[in-house]
Amino acid sequence: MSDTDGPKLAAPASSEGSVAASGRPGGSDARPLLSLDEVRSRLIAAANAVRITDAETVSTFDALGRVVAHDVVSLIDVPPQDNTSMDGYALRAADVRGAGTVLPLSQRIAAGHVGTPLAAGTAARIFTGANVPAGADAVVMQEQCQAVSADTVRIDAVPQAGQWIRRRGEDVRAGATVLVRGTRLSPQALGLAATVGAAKLSVVRRPRVALFSTGDELVMPGSVAPQDLPPGVIYNSNRYTLRGLLQAAGCDVTDLGIVPDRLEATRNALRAAAQDNDLILTSGGVSVGEEDHIRPAVAAEGHIDLWQVAMKPGKPLAFGAVRRDNASDALFIGLPGNPVSSFVTFLLAVAPVLRALQGADPSLPQSLQMRADFDWPRPDKRREFLRVRRNAQGGLDLFANQSSGVLTSAAWADGLVDNPAQQPIVGGDMVRYLALVSLL
Ligand code: AMP
Ligand code: MG
Repeated sequence: MSDTDGPKLAAPASSEGSVAASGRPGGSDARPLLSLDEVRSRLIAAANAVRITDAETVSTFDALGRVVAHDVVSLIDVPPQDNTSMDGYALRAADVRGAGTVLPLSQRIAAGHVGTPLAAGTAARIFTGANVPAGADAVVMQEQCQAVSADTVRIDAVPQAGQWIRRRGEDVRAGATVLVRGTRLSPQALGLAATVGAAKLSVVRRPRVALFSTGDELVMPGSVAPQDLPPGVIYNSNRYTLRGLLQAAGCDVTDLGIVPDRLEATRNALRAAAQDNDLILTSGGVSVGEEDHIRPAVAAEGHIDLWQVAMKPGKPLAFGAVRRDNASDALFIGLPGNPVSSFVTFLLAVAPVLRALQGADPSLPQSLQMRADFDWPRPDKRREFLRVRRNAQGGLDLFANQSSGVLTSAAWADGLVDNPAQQPIVGGDMVRYLALVSLL
């Protein structure tokens, strides 16, 4: 099986000892093999320590994807009064002794208009959303009524008291918290804020993230036509994937493009990126044993740990900090260069960091038990994240080529199977499925 993430086993520690274990840069290439859960908890702890505390007030229109900075409490009941959920007739249920009862019409109430208290023994013509008049305790839908004349109606069904009435406060009670601090705002959450009258929301400042790619083999689409691509050169895809992931996660992205594989250039980029950013995210140059400018550059500008994560794809990961002129630090995360590795590592390790920075829940979503409609006879020694797609039969299909360089697998998939180390899968087995949309 092709696996270009790096060697299968941790490189043996040299006499200089492990870089990560010593916490000091400049040691050997030995790196501890850490579980993904351990890596995530270390990253989240670091993010919590520099959590963004600035809040800003934005129009509710512009708050999609932002994280709520202060609880939103309703001053009103929603609905504000009892109202009808049907077009029909408001009446007292007790006035309809049997199907076919004819009642005089005493008023007509359209949505947005207020009626008068209902006279006993009468019905009010009423339209969806209009307040139910005092004295009425039921609405009969118009399909079960017949206008007998301009001012009488025959009720053809005996109503239950309360039917088709939306009760005051049944959605939200005055004083209730509708949005809790730390909530990431979905479209429906914006709607909920609007139902209680919030035209503006206090949200956490967006995380500022500087992004750059390393790799002298990379060129940008548009700079070289596909038919002119020289040997040894590939297009920079991670820039698009990671930038898109950062934007989808609600970040302000400073895109530094491709930084040349040279120490000074990398150090300069890091120094500039650290000043105004919470996080510096890079791809490439963190594999074991390669000529690697990320490590010495970050080490010179701050500190760096190189980790091997017991996951596939996505084994190598660099984590550290870059000093700012004011002596504070920007977080640094170096993702592997393989396109699927950087994609999966982002979802499982970086997205939680971004949530933690904003005070949102950094934990991974609950995985779903789903049926594998495929075999996976040769599992890896590491925990694997297989690119899969739900099928119409309620099971999961596997993308045939699971190599960490095959980006088609990630674009095709709608989820990942979280497969424990050394766990073979036989068609029909139940497996843990993580929907991609739930990971961002
Ligand atoms: P690295 O982690 O730098 O050793 O890169 C591992 C593999 O990923 C190599 O095959 C690189 O060519 C490829 N790679 C690195 N960066 C990118 C990128 N930005 N876009 C596409 N492929 C990349
Ligand atoms: Mg490289």
